[in-house]
Amino acid sequence: MSQDLSETSIAERRAAILERIALAAKSSGRSAGEITFVAVSKQQPDQNVAAALAAGHRVFGENRVQEAAARWDERFMGHRDQIELRLIGPLQTNKAVDACSLFDVIETLDRMKLAGALIKAAEKTGRMPRLFVQVNIGAEDQKSGVLPGDLSGFLKSLKSEYDITPEGLMCIPPLGEAASPHFWYLANLAENHGIQNLSMGMSSDYETAIKMGATHIRIGSAFLGVRG
Ligand SMILES: *Cc1c(COP(=O)(O)O)cnc(C)c1O
Repeated sequence: MSQDLSETSIAERRAAILERIALAAKSSGRSAGEITFVAVSKQQPDQNVAAALAAGHRVFGENRVQEAAARWDERFMGHRDQIELRLIGPLQTNKAVDACSLFDVIETLDRMKLAGALIKAAEKTGRMPRLFVQVNIGAEDQKSGVLPGDLSGFLKSLKSEYDITPEGLMCIPPLGEAASPHFWYLANLAENHGIQNLSMGMSSDYETAIKMGATHIRIGSAFLGVRG
């Protein structure tokens, strides 16, 4: 069962996470202002998301286009321009138009066919989200993302075929393994390719990710409670 948290406890959790972000940044000689706390609102009761908004939170991540469209339709409360919505789950080409209409950032670009569909969707909707490339950092069979060894070629093709320059890389390290080597590896790939932003780190390891250079941390359960 997902948790319904009170407005106060969500505001308190947010303040505590922001403090931990600031400490982790400071201890690695970074400024907290370089780090964006993305609240992962997937599968959360609307009440928790409303409490996060009331506490002043403005950046949210969702992993399913349909679920996000249903929720955020009414949830912007007249503040669409102040809210940043990020897609952090896999995207099918047949949902590219819906994704372009809704999201400000798509973090999960991982194949040329999807890039082509997004370009077409952008022409249709008049809106092109900013893009991150998802890297399958642990080269896992079932996981989506570009293999680390294929990243150079993928970035070159994105540029030459579609004139796309992604603004970041994103990864989800393998479950049950230490995350830091994977974070380190992603940071290295980004540096080698002149890419500024790194979306890595979740509820259990965001401080580690910050030490490794994360610019975007994606926090779900530690902020909005355990999902259903
Ligand atoms: C669900 C999800 C998260 C948040 O996970 P928590 O452990 O609840 O913080 C982060 N990133 C992605 C891609 C997710 O799907």
